[in-house]
Amino acid sequence: MKIKLLDGSFKEFDQALSVKEIASSIAISLGKSTVGAKVNGVFVSADFVVDKDVNLELVTTRSEYFDDYMNMTSALITGIAIAKLYKANLAETYYNADEKEFAITFEVEPRIGLEQLESIQAEVNNILKLETIKSSKMTMAQAEKEFAHNPYQLHLAQQANETFGYVPVYTLCDIKAVVIGGIITDIKVMKVIDIQQLTGSYWLNDSENVMLQRVHGMCGINQISLDEKKAMIEERRSRDHRLINKQLNIFGFDNLVGPGLPLWMPNGTIIKDEIKTYLKLKEWEYDYVHVTTPVIGSVDLYRTSGHWDHYGEDMFQPFSGGNGSEEQFVLRPMNCPHHIAVYKQEQHSYRELPIRIAEHAIQHRYESSGSLTGLERVRGMELTDSHIFVRPDQLATEFKQIYKLISEVLTTFNIEIDYLSFSLRDPQDKNKYFQDDKMWNDAEAALEAVLDELNLEYKKCVGEAAFYGPKLDIQIKTAQNHEITVSTIQLDFLLPRKFDVTYVDQNQEYQTPIMIHRGLIGTYERFIATLLEQTKGVLPLWLAPNQVEIIPIGNSENFDYAEQLRQIFKKEMIRSHIDLRDERLSYKIRDAQTHKVPFQLVIGNLETQNQTVTFRRYGSENQVTISQQQFIDIIKKEIASKQ
Ligand code: ATP
Ligand code: ZN
Repeated sequence: MKIKLLDGSFKEFDQALSVKEIASSIAISLGKSTVGAKVNGVFVSADFVVDKDVNLELVTTRSEYFDDYMNMTSALITGIAIAKLYKANLAETYYNADEKEFAITFEVEPRIGLEQLESIQAEVNNILKLETIKSSKMTMAQAEKEFAHNPYQLHLAQQANETFGYVPVYTLCDIKAVVIGGIITDIKVMKVIDIQQLTGSYWLNDSENVMLQRVHGMCGINQISLDEKKAMIEERRSRDHRLINKQLNIFGFDNLVGPGLPLWMPNGTIIKDEIKTYLKLKEWEYDYVHVTTPVIGSVDLYRTSGHWDHYGEDMFQPFSGGNGSEEQFVLRPMNCPHHIAVYKQEQHSYRELPIRIAEHAIQHRYESSGSLTGLERVRGMELTDSHIFVRPDQLATEFKQIYKLISEVLTTFNIEIDYLSFSLRDPQDKNKYFQDDKMWNDAEAALEAVLDELNLEYKKCVGEAAFYGPKLDIQIKTAQNHEITVSTIQLDFLLPRKFDVTYVDQNQEYQTPIMIHRGLIGTYERFIATLLEQTKGVLPLWLAPNQVEIIPIGNSENFDYAEQLRQIFKKEMIRSHIDLRDERLSYKIRDAQTHKVPFQLVIGNLETQNQTVTFRRYGSENQVTISQQQFIDIIKKEIASKQ
């Protein structure tokens, strides 16, 4: 048989060999570190026997797939322990790479409780002392007999059989299980498995199905690596904006209002308004004009734009004007058609272009309920939107200006970017993208030329373009390890045509401008989620909802002085709050720290007598006493610096 290796080279053998034997024939050390392989794209264990021509990619302890193998094996071992202890019907093994967590689902009568996790851990530790897991292939007929009593394993067996033409079965402690995915049969490679949680999940994630039990855990090649993984996940969870919100009270949701429809609380509204003021000034600096347009539009508007065909599923369904009216409206999912209508209110000459129409615009999208994630993915949102109409000869220059604006803004917020995505259409996908090869080729080539001129590093992402054109997306990673877009620049050669958008050129002839869609920081919702996660809730002074917590102690004159200070700060546009509660000073200071208030002022007799303030900064123990004016100067300087 002839084996094609990952580097393109071939190896020939005259007899069937296991993956491990093939690896050893290349190098003894390679054989030792091999835990499995991808054979014609399918993950198999190291004792899988190859008996025909295949493509082979070895999986070693250093391979990118090693974690998957370790976790799938840990899930299997945990499942075997549970089956052994409680005669459970095993279902499926899982690995969530984002959470670095494995899981196994199963069904058992009576259901197990949290108190059983300790016994499961002990049994898992026993199994880790064993030598090997035996792997084998079954035919579907054999599997049907073997797993006749277990509908879950039977389902997996069928799935496997359809994909591979056989059923991969693993045997340990005389218990057999079907696993689709790589398994390490040499148990000695497995070192630490930590059983952590018991939850439930519907079989195949379908709420019509039975609710199975689910044990979760983590694994590592030693205790240190496991502890590191745990700490990393813990740190990430602590940055989750939904958790930070519990301390800062920035947004809320109410099921009666509707899932995914955020309520901006007073603190959140301050943050949003501060950002908005800043962005509008930046847009003014870059010669944008601001407009305000309605949050609804007629269905015909979206039929004309093409959103109805390409985007219909993501829109709230149409409603009528009432009283038997025939008119049909939708909540707008984006603002492009409205801005086109603004442009078309007047005839434009080539001299006026580029025309940059901006709106911090409310829009609604019917995102699936499972995808809603705090402020990161919502159904009602405000987009820092703009549509820029340019002549073809202005495209490159304007794109660079937009990119410059976005970069400046993201730098002000110290946003950590993951990567830039140059999103292209998938030419095979005839449904998502409107069909005009020339337009797509021209648009993609034009954008690529500008990106190269800007010397940007980007990833080409095929199939990620909008239905009307290619785009550049600025991607970041959330605390949950989701990859999301904040800012975006999208070229559009299509909508201007559909809406018959024109300008008059030098020769008094009508021409079609190119439209650029631009999301400056994306939506406020997603951006503020990002900001909270990247700052861990410690916002820069200009954005902090409460900039100064005033903590008076002692007699009532000190409370009066605190109120005087609040009034003075108010005149200076400094946001402050007086802690009037009857609590101890140390408690109030700790509370101000929990709420991440940048400055805390302690007002006692001395401060009142001398008309001074004593402050300490968030995260510092140092106390400094200065005059009111000096304090105001410090604050105003820091607010102006936006750092
Ligand atoms: P996604 O990739 O998140 O589905 P999209 O590609 O459909 O978004 P665009 O139509 O380009 O997004 O929207 C512009 C910006 O709006 C995005 O970059 C993102 O910042 C924001 N955004 C889109 N959908 C949501 C949502 N459901 N919740 C919050 N913000 C969103
Ligand atoms: Zn748009």
